[in-house]
Amino acid sequence: MGTPHFGVSYWIDRLPRRRPSYTRYRGQNDVDVAIIGGGMAGCAIAYALSTAGARVCLFEADRIGQGAIGSSTALVMQEPDVDFQDVLDVHGLRATRTIWRMTRRGALDFVAAIRRLRISCQPEAQDSIYFASDSKSAQRLRHELGLRKKAKLEARWLTVEQLRRETNVEAEGAIRVTGNAQVEPLRTCLGFAAAAAKRGASIHERSPVERIRTGREHVELRTAGGTVRADQLVIATGHPGSLFKPLARHFRVAETYAVATPPLGARIRAGLGRRRAMLWDTADPYHYLRWTRDGRIIFGGGDRSHPHPRSRDRVLVQRTGQLMYELSVLYPVISGIQPEYAWSGPSVTTADGLPYIGPHRNYPRHLFALGFGGNGLAQGFLASRILLRHYLGEPAKGDELFGFAR
Ligand SMILES: Cc1cc2nc3c(=O)[nH]c(=O)nc-3n(C[C@H](O)[C@H](O)[C@H](O)COP(=O)(O)OP(=O)(O)OC[C@H]3O[C@@H](n4cnc5c(N)ncnc54)[C@H](O)[C@@H]3O)c2cc1C
Repeated sequence: MGTPHFGVSYWIDRLPRRRPSYTRYRGQNDVDVAIIGGGMAGCAIAYALSTAGARVCLFEADRIGQGAIGSSTALVMQEPDVDFQDVLDVHGLRATRTIWRMTRRGALDFVAAIRRLRISCQPEAQDSIYFASDSKSAQRLRHELGLRKKAKLEARWLTVEQLRRETNVEAEGAIRVTGNAQVEPLRTCLGFAAAAAKRGASIHERSPVERIRTGREHVELRTAGGTVRADQLVIATGHPGSLFKPLARHFRVAETYAVATPPLGARIRAGLGRRRAMLWDTADPYHYLRWTRDGRIIFGGGDRSHPHPRSRDRVLVQRTGQLMYELSVLYPVISGIQPEYAWSGPSVTTADGLPYIGPHRNYPRHLFALGFGGNGLAQGFLASRILLRHYLGEPAKGDELFGFAR
């Protein structure tokens, strides 16, 4: 094994040097929709809108897919990043059930679109197993399962013995959910960008949007290379950032961490259960685990408040060292193995754990898709569906549950 790669994600490091690239924006143009942000949400939205016939222009400040999505561990989850109970407390049963149904649909449609577009990002169907390490958490998890069953959502209980057989994890019980998936995130994002470009979207990298002016008839965006006038503007920048400071109060930013081991040998793999599911624990902040095709474990979690830029490297070494320790507690057979990759990225969440997708009354001609937390793949795709409906003036029942007025 070589030196650990600190600060670079497994996916970004493995992308060929001759990756697809897009030009900087130059000139003056009129379009139907301008999109700011070339992450998972922005690229999926560009694809959906250009497929519907809109003239789309997407602006990415850096390279496509190298924001949070390039650092993601890429579990495609059909449920929000919070417990059913937590959403129920805030939104009530009917709304919570609708939210779960919509996010499930989003995840299934996302994987179906990847397959239809033949994006080579190694999509694999995977169950997820959400386990409790102590009896109090197991009690909470049983309660969570009860709520989900009452809402007619698919999930089942794994006993200590079943969990051990399946995963070789020693814990007090678990919920198993079928129908999730895992992908290679950066290639997925690039795949949607390419599909959008093929349908006529004009995509620009290294083109940060510096200013926005909203007029009666259109919105005007300015970059260093020129301006564009659009009927509608979509903001898919993860966080509202400096362009929409008044909205920042709706969002929290943390740093989230991940490690990838080297490919594990057969002797070690034999001690790690069937390796057919993605794992999750009930800790707060939680940890999760997935496998790569070349036999590595990717282990993530341990979110912390955003570190000061000066201490970022030191905190990264400390937090990812802690992740390796926690991984070896879960799987003692891993003890002594050093990570081959250790990286982090921003996690932008909201008070109720759901993203904000839709218009905002203070910003005419604007549509937002922000705050996807640890679930930006499936929900970024869901955002493309919801915003397409808003763009066409046909919002569906349930879309308002993701809006700013919820
Ligand atoms: C370590 C880690 C693990 C994760 N694991 C998972 C997981 O397993 N499953 C999952 O679903 N999600 C996971 N996530 C979360 C997921 O990565 C995010 O939710 C998702 O990437 C958000 O997508 P986005 O398009 O909203 O934002 P981003 O991917 O951050 O894209 C926003 C883009 O906007 C651009 N931008 C910002 N300002 C401007 C401007 N003024 N002009 C032009 N462009 C601009 C940025 O450069 C950036 O590229 C993880 C995240 C991290 C960091």
